[in-house]
Amino acid sequence: MKLLILANGCENNCKPAGGEFLLTDCPPLVFFFYHSIINVIKTDKHPTKIIRNIVRFYKIIRFLAILVSFNSSAADIALIIDDMGNRSRDALAFSLPKEVAFSILPHKPLSSVYSQRAASQQREVMLHIPMESLAGKRLGPGSLTADMHPMKIHQVLQDALSTVPDAIGMNNHMGSKLTQLTLPMSSTMDFLQQHNLFFVDSRTTRFSKAEQIARQKGVMSTKRNVFLDHDADITEIDAQFRRLLRLAKKYGFAVGIAHPYPQSVNYLKQQLPTLADKGVRLVPLSDVLVSQELARSNRREQLEQQLD
Ligand SMILES: [Zn+2]
Repeated sequence: MKLLILANGCENNCKPAGGEFLLTDCPPLVFFFYHSIINVIKTDKHPTKIIRNIVRFYKIIRFLAILVSFNSSAADIALIIDDMGNRSRDALAFSLPKEVAFSILPHKPLSSVYSQRAASQQREVMLHIPMESLAGKRLGPGSLTADMHPMKIHQVLQDALSTVPDAIGMNNHMGSKLTQLTLPMSSTMDFLQQHNLFFVDSRTTRFSKAEQIARQKGVMSTKRNVFLDHDADITEIDAQFRRLLRLAKKYGFAVGIAHPYPQSVNYLKQQLPTLADKGVRLVPLSDVLVSQELARSNRREQLEQQLD
């Protein structure tokens, strides 16, 4: 039993609660502890010897528990397939596990159809809003630009949302210019807050203010950690996917964005079923958002307690 736990980690994914590991957090260890105590009672007849052996066993179990907690710290990844809605070829992505979220471009021939189909698979749907880039790339319908009045931004977002009606969140398509600007980002986040939508910063520039403004406005938010297929060569996709797993193991979670290219979808279809062997879980995007939000509010509480 001892060796089994050490070799495999704890399948219950037990983690120390607030830094202190409680034995009751880990059912397999509780079972091992009581099983050992019964053996001690059966073999030793002297009460002092029984107590001494129980204490010794408890110390061993505690040590094992700490090792298990290090071994089994959660590593979650969430994935988003961007740019959905343009082509019928993108439908290949529907064969990916339902934990993979789709971000759908507004006003495209397949926007509403894909929105409905993804939602019927219990898949999380996002609105993929084109935002002005520094390179001045062509943006397409439903896009936001720096010269827009806040009311216009709300109108554009409202119209876009009506073509992706199942969206529960939003991320930016391009946006290296717009996400650096406070006013348009504030108007965007006001809209998301009013419609109870979350935001994922695609981080098309390291100077993006989007996530910071989202938090100020009370919008649940996170950011993209890795673009899997910025270079759509399979060797590069593989390298980026490994990077995503490394980040998840380091920080507990990581968010990856890919596109509905056949090579990306096929790569993910091969790799995602093997995640458990690598100690990584694929989770819905909202799981990552909720755990991040909880971690932030815990940190805030601790800070407030220290200040009191
Ligand atoms: Zn995009």
